[in-house]
Amino acid sequence: MRYRTVIIPPKEINETNSDIKLWDFTGEYTGSSNVLGLVVFSVVQGIAIAQMGKVGKPLQDFYTALGEAMMLITNWVIWLSPFGVFFLVTSKVLEAESFAVMVGQMGMYFMTVLVGLILHGFIVVPLIYVICVKKMPIKFIANMGQAILTAFATGSSSATLSVSMGCLEEKNGIDVRVSRFVMPIGATINMDGTALYEAVAVIFISQVRHMTLSLTQIISVSITATMASIGAASIPQAGLVTMVMVLDTVGLPAEDVSLIFAVDWLLDRFRTTVNVLGDAIGAGVVAHLSQKELAQLPSIN
Ligand code: ASP
Repeated sequence: MRYRTVIIPPKEINETNSDIKLWDFTGEYTGSSNVLGLVVFSVVQGIAIAQMGKVGKPLQDFYTALGEAMMLITNWVIWLSPFGVFFLVTSKVLEAESFAVMVGQMGMYFMTVLVGLILHGFIVVPLIYVICVKKMPIKFIANMGQAILTAFATGSSSATLSVSMGCLEEKNGIDVRVSRFVMPIGATINMDGTALYEAVAVIFISQVRHMTLSLTQIISVSITATMASIGAASIPQAGLVTMVMVLDTVGLPAEDVSLIFAVDWLLDRFRTTVNVLGDAIGAGVVAHLSQKELAQLPSIN
């Protein structure tokens, strides 16, 4: 249960009562779980366990084992997913008033995510490199070509990890101490492509459901999408699973994920590519910023 404040619009909106400050408001309990609260609590608990050292080890082992068990269950579910997806998509197609309108809407959604990913991956992220390293990243990105292709082919940041570290070390000359520290962390928690996609997908689903999101809701969707992307595993279509949390933030049911199932396999490849590119650029920036420190340390072979 979660308590929330609700603004009540007048039955008829006219010039005198259109000012939102004059609307009535009340409070109500809703049945959905407080996901943002849960995520914040988990982060705080993680910090506490880390601070506890040896005493916190059993709790850490418990969560590690729980995580492994959930991964195993998820793998079983993934094996069954082709059948489930087939029936879910079929039911949505039959449910739609007009198939052509639905395909059109999906196309717009697909293009929106794609344009967002291109802008982020090829303008925003390289710009961070330019600002921090003071160099154009064209050669750097070109050298990552093999990793980019592998990310697109596998749809998994983890599966791309060895290739991306190889490209960074052998082609871009990044110190192994940086690449082998930054890349595994990046593959696990830094998923900018996934965060972008989750936010757009939830806004798209709410539009399909004829819901108008307020500015506050859009902000909480963005925050939860970022948190959810951190929690997503670096395996194909993991973003689709954690998106349930984001849907919950605006009170949409988990089943609505099925509205975007049909194109997700392809979008996953694009967002994984941006995730890997973001990690690589991050490693490049860290390597540049820690040049002095690395030089002072004994060299390793
Ligand atoms: N497939 C993505 C990755 O491995 C995660 C996701 O967005 O589903 O980075």
